[in-house]
Amino acid sequence: METAQRAPETIGTVLADLNSAQYAAVTHDDAPLLIVAGAGTGKTTTLASRVAWHISNGIDPRRILLLTFTRRASQEMTKRVDGILRRLRGDGARGPGGSAVWGGTFHAMGTRLLRLHGASIQLDPGFTIMDRGDSEDLMGVIRSQLGLARTDRRFPQKGTCMDIYSRCVNSQHPIGDVLRSSFPWCLEHEDDLKRLCADYVERKIETGVLDYDDILLYWLGLLEDPAAGAEVRKRFDYVLVDEFQDTNALQARIVQLLRPDGRGVTVVGDDAQSIYSFRAADVRNILDFPTLFDGVDVLPLEQNYRSTQQILDATNRVIAGASERLEKNLWTAREGGELPAVVSCHDEDEQTDFVIRRVLELRETGLQLKQQAVLFRATHHSLPLELELQRRNIPYKKYGGLKFTETAHVKDLGAILRLAENPRDLSAGLRVLTLLPGVGPATAQRLMEALTEGGGDFLTWADLPTPTPAAKFAWASFVPLMIDLTRPDPMDLSAQVHAVREMYAPLLERRYDNATARLRDLEQIERLAARFDDRLTMLADMALDPPAWAEDLAGPPVLDEDFLILSTMHSAKGLEWDAVYLIHAADGNMPSDMATGSVEEIEEERRLFYVGCTRAKDWLYVCFPLRYYKSPWNHTDAHGYAQLTRFIADGCRDAFREEAGGVRGERDTDEPADPAVSGAAIKTRLRAMWA
Ligand code: ATP
Ligand code: MG
Repeated sequence: METAQRAPETIGTVLADLNSAQYAAVTHDDAPLLIVAGAGTGKTTTLASRVAWHISNGIDPRRILLLTFTRRASQEMTKRVDGILRRLRGDGARGPGGSAVWGGTFHAMGTRLLRLHGASIQLDPGFTIMDRGDSEDLMGVIRSQLGLARTDRRFPQKGTCMDIYSRCVNSQHPIGDVLRSSFPWCLEHEDDLKRLCADYVERKIETGVLDYDDILLYWLGLLEDPAAGAEVRKRFDYVLVDEFQDTNALQARIVQLLRPDGRGVTVVGDDAQSIYSFRAADVRNILDFPTLFDGVDVLPLEQNYRSTQQILDATNRVIAGASERLEKNLWTAREGGELPAVVSCHDEDEQTDFVIRRVLELRETGLQLKQQAVLFRATHHSLPLELELQRRNIPYKKYGGLKFTETAHVKDLGAILRLAENPRDLSAGLRVLTLLPGVGPATAQRLMEALTEGGGDFLTWADLPTPTPAAKFAWASFVPLMIDLTRPDPMDLSAQVHAVREMYAPLLERRYDNATARLRDLEQIERLAARFDDRLTMLADMALDPPAWAEDLAGPPVLDEDFLILSTMHSAKGLEWDAVYLIHAADGNMPSDMATGSVEEIEEERRLFYVGCTRAKDWLYVCFPLRYYKSPWNHTDAHGYAQLTRFIADGCRDAFREEAGGVRGERDTDEPADPAVSGAAIKTRLRAMWA
C-alpha cells in the first residue's frame, strides 16, 4: 500500500485537463446552469468536477445532492470526486470526500428523504417499496376483485393497466388524455380503468406501501408542504443532475422545488440521447429548463473526447437524420482511426462468430475484454451469443434485461422479509402465502384479512387452524418464522435471511427447476445482508437499485478479472468502450417492430441507435444477419431476409465501410454457403434421422 504523501495540488492544476468551456462550467457561479451538449463532450466529467469544486470551496459534501440515472453512475462520479479531492489535499490526507455527497437515483434519494421527513406529511417512514413486478401483481389482484377480468369485452392485462396508471402519474396528464394519445385501444374501458387505479391507490395507502411512482409523488408532496418542504430545502445548497434529457415532469418539478430560485442548480444532458419517453420522460424538460428559473445560463460543450474523427463523422450523420433536435457542432482532436464498419452476416450464427472472432483478435492486440462491449436492442437478442461465449469459456457480464432481484426465487425471499417488515403489505403477503402448498389467492386473501384484523401480529395466524391440509408442514414452520422475524429484539440480518432460507428451501425445490443454482443465489443474499444496517434499507435497495446487486453477487472482485460487456442499448447510456459491436442492426429489431407505431417512436429508436453508436471510442461494428430463420430452433430452413437498419441505410451508408461477417477470404456472405459444411445441411441431416 502506498503511504507516501504527495504535495497538495492547486485547483488550477487539478482542473488543467479541462478545456475552457468545461472549466467555465465547473467554476461557474451559483446561477442556475444548463449544459446541453453532444455525446462524449465531457458532461458527466464536468459535473463530477463541479461537485469537487464546490467541496474544495468549503461546501459540506452532505449539502450537495447529485442525481444520476443509476447507482453505478453515482458511484463512479463520487469516485472521481474523491480522486480530485485527494489530489487537492495531497495523497493520504483525510477529509470530507465525494462519498459523503447525497448521490444516487431520484428514487433512491427520494426514499432516503421520505424516511427522514415522511412523518411530517403523515407518511409512515417504515413504508415498504413494491418494485414494478409487485405493483403489477397488486394491480392484477384488484383487477380480479373488481370483476374486471370477467367482463365480456377484453379488459387490458395487469401490465398494461400498470403502464397506463404510471403514464398518468409521471406525465401528470388525466387518464382520458393518456388513453387517447398512447393506449387508444383501451379507451372503451376508461371508467373501469379509473375505478381500478383509484382502488390501487387506496390499497397502497391502507397497507403502507409505495410503488416507484409514489416515491416521486410523495417527494414532490413533501416539497409542496410549506413546513416540511422548508426543512428539506434547508438540507441542500447544490443540486446537480446528469442525463437530464431522461427526466420526467415530476422529476423536473422536484428539482425546481428543491431550489426555487435556481441557485446552485446544474443540469446536464443531450436532447439527441433522450430514450426513455416510454417511462414518460420528456425531452421538453431539458429544452424548457431555461424557463424553470430566472437567469439560467446555458453553456455548450463542443469538443468530443471519446471517439475518433471517423466514428464521430458517422454518428453525426446518423443523428442528422433526426427530425427535431438542437443543432450541435461536435468536433474531435482524435484524428484518423478506422472507418466504422457495417458487417453483413449470412445469419445469426455467423454474426455470433464474427463478434467473438473480432473480440479475440482485438484482445490479441492488447485490448482487454472489458474495453469491448456488445450492444443490442432487446435483451433476448444476446442469448445465442451468450451460449457461445459460455461454450468457449469467455467470461462476460450483462447489463440490463431481467435483473437478479427480478428472478422468482429472489422475489419470494424478498417478499417474506417485506411481509415481516410490513404485515399490511398485501402484494408481499399474497406472494408469500400462495407459495404454501394448497393455498390459493382466495385463502391467501382471507389470511391477510385476519392478519390485518389482528393488528399485524403473526400470533394471529398461530391461533388459526392450518389453512388447508396440503399446507400442514409448511404452515408449521412458516408461522413460527414470521413470529421470529418480528420479535422486538430481532436477529441480525444475515441470521434472518438464513432462517428464511431454511424455511423456504423445500418450497423452492417443489416449485422451480434448477433448484441448486437458485439456492446458491439465496446463500449469496445471506452473505450480502451483512453489509446492511437494517432490513428496511436492504429491502429498499433490492427494490430500487438491482443492477448493483447483480454485480455484487458476481462474487468478490478479482483485480485481473476480465470480461466482455453485454448490454442493452438503454443500459449503455453514459458509458464508453474502445470497441463497440451493435448486433441485430436490422430493420424490425432496430427500430424495433414493437416501436414503429408513430413518428415519435421511430425518432426515439433513432436516438437509441445514436446512443449505441456514440459509445465507441476507436472501433465500431454495426452487424446484421441477412437471414432470420422463421423458427428459432431451425426446425425448418424457412427464413426471411433482413434489411440493414434504416438509420444507416437511408443516407449515411457511405460513412461506414462494408465488411462481410464470414471468415475473410473464405466466402462471400451473400453467396449461398457450401451445402456440405453449412449449419443448414447438418440440421437437414439431423432431421433426416427422424423422418
Ligand atoms: P455522454 O453523452 O455519452 O454521457 P459525456 O458528455 O457525459 O458523454 P463523458 O463521459 O464525461 O462525456 O466524457 C467522455 C470521455 O471524454 C471520457 O473518457 C472522459 O474521460 C473524456 N474527457 C472528457 N473531458 C476531457 C478532457 N478535458 N480531456 C481529456 N479527456 C476528457
Ligand atoms: Mg455522460
